[in-house]
Amino acid sequence: MAKYRGPVCRLCRREGVKLFLKGSRCMTEKCAVERRAFPPGQHGQARPRASEYSTQLREKQKLKRTYGILERQFRGIFSKAERQQGITGENLLRLLEQRLDNVVYRIGFAASRAEARQLINHAHFQVNGRKVNKPSFLVREGDVIEVKERSRAILPIASALEGVDGRGVPVWLDLDKANVKGTVRGLPTKEEIAVPVNEQLVVDLYSR
Ligand code: SF4
Repeated sequence: MAKYRGPVCRLCRREGVKLFLKGSRCMTEKCAVERRAFPPGQHGQARPRASEYSTQLREKQKLKRTYGILERQFRGIFSKAERQQGITGENLLRLLEQRLDNVVYRIGFAASRAEARQLINHAHFQVNGRKVNKPSFLVREGDVIEVKERSRAILPIASALEGVDGRGVPVWLDLDKANVKGTVRGLPTKEEIAVPVNEQLVVDLYSR
């Protein structure tokens, strides 16, 4: 799968918010958003006029970058959200949250979604007892996500689990730290999805 290989702190600076793309570094004073709170590039400190289009575009980019998804795949997820019953923006957020890479990160088995994707690609996880190595796999209510027995001691997973208490696990997920296992209690509501994005602006952008 294609992925963004450039500097990730630049993405946060462009959006003007912490997107938490670098794990524990994001919690320190080394965070680039804290040190240089203006967009990157030659004209970063200029004040551009915000049009309706640019506001919508920024929200879409923020959402894509938060979950580490490129345009083509994001478009596909949006189309799926449109086809589902209910409010498209909320469906979109839910579909993004349901991704296995997001769940592995949220539950505390990885320090960032990028790290979660790599661990999943290397087949360190099982869902309901079966190996899953697709980061885009969508979890459902009741699914049990486990770290494979032989993978429990590997450093990224062990150190992410150590830091999970400081970060907290969302209410729609349940972590059994002793058995390195998590359960999806239910799919999240919009209020339970903590991303600093106005999803309606993304819907407006794609509806233009
Ligand atoms: Fe973003 Fe983390 Fe880099 Fe800060 S340290 S700019 S939150 S990726």
